[in-house]
Amino acid sequence: MDQELADFHEITPTAPLTVGEHGGRAKCLQRLVRLDLPVPQTVAIPFETVHRIAAGYRMDTGALLSVFGKSPMVSVRPSSEDPDWGGPGAILNIGMNDAKHAQLVETQGKEAADRLYRRFVQTFAIHVARLDPDMFDGQPDLADVLHAYEEETDETFPQDPAQQLLQVLRSMARAWEGTTARLLRQAKGAPADAGLGLVVQRMALGIGGGESGSGVIQFVNATTGKPQITGRYMSQSQGRAALDGDQGALFLTRDPRGPSLEEQCPEAFAELVNCGDICRTRLREEMQVEFTLEAGKLHILDAVRVPRTARAGVRIAVKLAEAGIISREEAVLRIEPRALAELMHSQVDPRGTRDRIAHGIAASPGAASGKLVFSSAAAQASAARDEACVLVRRETQPEDIRGMHAAKAVLTVRGGVTSHAAVIARGLGLPCVVGASDITLKSRDKVLVTNDGRTLKEGDFVTIDGSSGEALLGAVEMLPPAVDDCFSALLQWAENLGGMKVRANADTPADARTARRFGADGIGLCRTEHMFFEVDRLTVMRETIFADEETDRRAALEQLLPMQRDDFVGLFEIMEGLPVCIRLFDPPLHEFLPHDRSGIRAMAEALDLPISQVTRRIETMSEFNPMLGMRGVRLGVLFPEIYEMQARAIFEATVEAGKSGRLVVPEIMIPLVSAMREVELVKNNVDAIAAAVRNETGAEFDYKLGVMVETPRAALRAGDIGHHAAFLSFGTNDLTQMTYGLSRDDAGRFMGAYVQQGVYPEDPFHTLDLDGVGELLLIGAQRAREERKEVVISLCGEHGGNPESIEFCHSAGFDYVSCSPFRVPIARLAVAHAALREAHMSFDELDE
Ligand code: PEP
Ligand code: MG
Repeated sequence: MDQELADFHEITPTAPLTVGEHGGRAKCLQRLVRLDLPVPQTVAIPFETVHRIAAGYRMDTGALLSVFGKSPMVSVRPSSEDPDWGGPGAILNIGMNDAKHAQLVETQGKEAADRLYRRFVQTFAIHVARLDPDMFDGQPDLADVLHAYEEETDETFPQDPAQQLLQVLRSMARAWEGTTARLLRQAKGAPADAGLGLVVQRMALGIGGGESGSGVIQFVNATTGKPQITGRYMSQSQGRAALDGDQGALFLTRDPRGPSLEEQCPEAFAELVNCGDICRTRLREEMQVEFTLEAGKLHILDAVRVPRTARAGVRIAVKLAEAGIISREEAVLRIEPRALAELMHSQVDPRGTRDRIAHGIAASPGAASGKLVFSSAAAQASAARDEACVLVRRETQPEDIRGMHAAKAVLTVRGGVTSHAAVIARGLGLPCVVGASDITLKSRDKVLVTNDGRTLKEGDFVTIDGSSGEALLGAVEMLPPAVDDCFSALLQWAENLGGMKVRANADTPADARTARRFGADGIGLCRTEHMFFEVDRLTVMRETIFADEETDRRAALEQLLPMQRDDFVGLFEIMEGLPVCIRLFDPPLHEFLPHDRSGIRAMAEALDLPISQVTRRIETMSEFNPMLGMRGVRLGVLFPEIYEMQARAIFEATVEAGKSGRLVVPEIMIPLVSAMREVELVKNNVDAIAAAVRNETGAEFDYKLGVMVETPRAALRAGDIGHHAAFLSFGTNDLTQMTYGLSRDDAGRFMGAYVQQGVYPEDPFHTLDLDGVGELLLIGAQRAREERKEVVISLCGEHGGNPESIEFCHSAGFDYVSCSPFRVPIARLAVAHAALREAHMSFDELDE
């Protein structure tokens, strides 16, 4: 008896059922039973028993069936821990045999009895006896179907219900343990040893006398989350037949296109609507309900959470909280932070078809369509004609920034998540796929060749899906962004939960406005070099770089000064007193020089120099390893006049912006530091400039100087390096590059293979490597705080928008993270989740 009790439980309000032992479906059915909904009698079989059945255990199925009384008919459905992990299909009408058939002929009529028996024999033959499905083609009669079964198996169709049930359970248990099923569910996040429970339920016959049939109903639109009754009902049907074929299916609500359940069975319809209300208020969720009418009586067979898009998820959670059904905290916790990306950008409509032409790294979310162009000049020409275009490059260079501005989306053959194209696209909110190495780009011929041999030329329409990392042929159907009231409400609730601040990486007024729109707490990284790529500035910048003498360099920089000053005034005004952290010039100078002949000629013309001299100068500046060469603070030490110009521009802008009465305290950040003396040298110069500007203007102002921790040495020596710093900001892009010795621009080539083979669990440029780089962060933060308790600590690499990395920074007590403006909402929600988890809040258990 004990054995039997352990093998199964009837689902009653008090049965000891758990999701972890019996699966989500069993638990959900118990909740429906507790709500007194008309659920047919059901028995749950736990994972453990199912596992033993797969291995040959002969469970006493006669005892199980006796729970249902004399000669019942039952169905079996899978019940795994997470419904998304799939499982074998339902099997209905178990218990059907010759005797039951004879009985049903009497009560339901011959046609209904035949259909019920035939359906069971066919399902049993295909899924349990593993016979070829085609063998039943063109055999509409029950006798033919039974005959075909006997011919094929050399056995009569099993008549003993207990035997039928045991075989059904065994086949479902074995299907779950098969390799294909296991790989499929593991791909959806299931652990290797995920268990399967089964639920055995008394059949509610959807075939028979009176109004009988089956259907599925839900009360919100799965794409938008707005209230809307959707689903189908079909008379004289079972299972989900109403959804499979339109023929004969009824609409649920009144519809000009045809008859509806609401008109034909108003009482059952009203009962269903009431059931939706009960689920919403008591299960605190929007449910999709599977139901059957048996001679007019309603049975609720099953209910699952409405499968939903992210935008529907946000609306549902917010509306439940607004109705007081769940708390605001729970609404915040119900939304996966990274799902918000789907709301902030257009998305490929999941209901459409996709013709994939390339696959790479999903570098910047959202989707856009346009005509293919292969150069920045062509992108700009396209924009001038008001034509949407998609820019395709092997990889982008700094001078491509104008082409990127002009394009609707970007695709590169090379690169990883922190390569130039990826960083810029995220900043601009442009959909972007990088590292699409399965296509061949023939720039000279202006064609793309796909790996299945298709050739696409300039002007052909494509769609870039930066959320999935795919390029698709043609202009596909899109869903517009959903930055609506529900989105804003959720973010406001997240912000109210407190926790670490979230700033934005913003270089331009447009970025700063986006940052404000998404509620950033300030600018955490302004990459000033991005301000130099406008045509007029680029020429002056090149003059600076070409100057041999300091005096010539200063003369060129004089021209840049007012432009930079205006940039900063703009940022300060838009940010209205919120902190603005400006990083001094960082990249290797040669990035500003042309790379091809026509560029060199144009530059020679602009600077009025012979081509040979320009070429020679470019050669002398070239480095074997520029990312480890003359860049960052090293430029500041060797050419102090560059940083001096920038410091002056910042301070003069501070005075200017301060005239409106708002207090501006600029933050100045030094990149790529590896030694304390570097900070001292720059600090002395910046202090001197500040003193000079105070003197010249008679205005008083304050500023903060900080250090970017981007080299392992800076992290290890954060104590002395941080001695002169009001703040430290971890630049985890370079820090990851240098900790692994892994080029951030080239790693995309092999990252896929490395992750696939388990060398790295994830791309470390995308998800912070907590063990290695993370340890450097902890060491750096601790040593800096020991030296200077009040030092402000933050992270401003691309990881600043990654939820797992954010949780790490939160628990390490960082003051803020900074990420591209379009990721601010994601980061904000991730911070709220971290804060709630820290307070041990979770809402796993429903209260029913
Ligand atoms: C970094 O290295 O993490 C960083 C923020 O700077 P950049 O990406 O501009 O090198
Ligand atoms: Mg860096």
